[in-house]
Amino acid sequence: MLAPEPDRAPARRSARFAVIDPATGEAFDEAPDQRPDELDAVVDRAHRAWHGWRADPAARTAALRRAADAVERAGDDLARSLTREQGKPLAEAYAEIARTAARLRYFADLAPRTRRITDGRPVHSEIRWRPLGPVAAIVPWNFPLQLAAAKFAPALAAGNTMVLKPSPHTPLATRLLGSVLATALPKDVLTVVTGREPLGARLASHPGIRHVTFTGSVPTGRAVAEAAAASLARVTLELGGNDAAVLLDDIDVDRIADRLFWAAFRNCGQVCMAVKRVYAPARLHAEVVEALAQRAKTVVVGAGTAPDTRLGPVNNAAQLARVEQVTQQARADGARAAAGGHRLDRPGYFFAPTILTDVPPASPVVTEEQFGPVLPVLPYRNLDEAVEAANGTGFGLGGSVWGTDLDRAEAVADRLECGTAWINHHAELSLAQPFAGVKNSGVGVAGGPWGLYGNLRPFVVHRPREA
Ligand code: NAD
Repeated sequence: MLAPEPDRAPARRSARFAVIDPATGEAFDEAPDQRPDELDAVVDRAHRAWHGWRADPAARTAALRRAADAVERAGDDLARSLTREQGKPLAEAYAEIARTAARLRYFADLAPRTRRITDGRPVHSEIRWRPLGPVAAIVPWNFPLQLAAAKFAPALAAGNTMVLKPSPHTPLATRLLGSVLATALPKDVLTVVTGREPLGARLASHPGIRHVTFTGSVPTGRAVAEAAAASLARVTLELGGNDAAVLLDDIDVDRIADRLFWAAFRNCGQVCMAVKRVYAPARLHAEVVEALAQRAKTVVVGAGTAPDTRLGPVNNAAQLARVEQVTQQARADGARAAAGGHRLDRPGYFFAPTILTDVPPASPVVTEEQFGPVLPVLPYRNLDEAVEAANGTGFGLGGSVWGTDLDRAEAVADRLECGTAWINHHAELSLAQPFAGVKNSGVGVAGGPWGLYGNLRPFVVHRPREA
């Protein structure tokens, strides 16, 4: 059984905060609530480690490959830790860990390209790429390991060192991951810090940090951008989404219902790019509602550790209250729950998988991000109106179009104002693709080579072609 490294003998031991099992609502462990002076020491060490780490790309590749192997070897312990504090079914925890290892391997083998530009003058310019220095990653609680890896794999591959702060709702699996990675990486190349606010704010504004890469909600993203402005650090923000699925009138409801249901309910709906609204042709609306409601009523909800669980609890009490509040508001606005609509009468943060119909388009469950197991299904009569509604929120992360005629579906997908549009599925990402939101869904580009270059700066050398 692996355990996180003991805290490095600080002069004073940090205070600790409780970590809650969302399947019971009870505290089951604690994590260090690190102080500002500890953070300063961590950033200082990350800076010192940077000089060695940036110097040898071949050694970096080897270390990142070793790190991927170490993550896989620790898979059982990481999965148990993740499920306990996050709530997701164990099978999904294993998938998250596999994705973490895959991300490390992908970036281990990716290197920036040096380019030479000649423009007719007797000089040429060579564009080389240099790392930025110590960078900070701040991540949320829905995919603590996978989202951390989406940040540390490209940042470390680029030659930066990193200070990583998980959400206080999910600190333990990330601490364990930090210990696992420490067996493969040089000392202080990646350090996990844990604590409640203002730790994240201090990290975002720390003068020793050259890039802040953040995933989380829109309001916190704004606060992070403001904090980072103090040191003019580069900022990458991956923020919320309110993805629409637009169903076309040639769909076969039976064929797509499972895929559509899981695109909305995977990880208990706590996915930035989950389907959060469905627009169905009026003629098929009742059939779509019925197909989704039937799945919502029969899916096995329970603790992530139970072998037959497909849907776990909501991660934390505040999020459960938010899910309940938007659902109650929708019902007060005239919506009807075709399935669910309430908390489950059992300990822990469980909410019945909910399908809402007759929802007024201005209800917050449509216009805002619910981030939980609740899905409004809205009818449309005219496809242009459906596209307009899909594009009609302040978000622009992803979107999908579902239809049998793929060319027609793609033509509609092309009209969505978002970073990624899918046809007949949703939220599947390739490690090699760019990932970026528009409008309030983000700033900067992650993923693939774009993610690597986002962690580098150009350095240009001009030299005459002759002495
Ligand atoms: P959050 O914004 O509350 O917290 C995110 C992280 O920021 C946590 O680590 C938190 O401790 C930290 N934080 C809080 N206040 C801070 C401050 N003032 N300065 C710096 N850091 C601070 O988000 P959450 O509730 O943990 O996660 C849910 C949100 O994340 C949803 O809106 C979801 O859509 C979004 N999300 C987006 C993506 C994406 O890639 N676009 C992926 C997953 C989740």
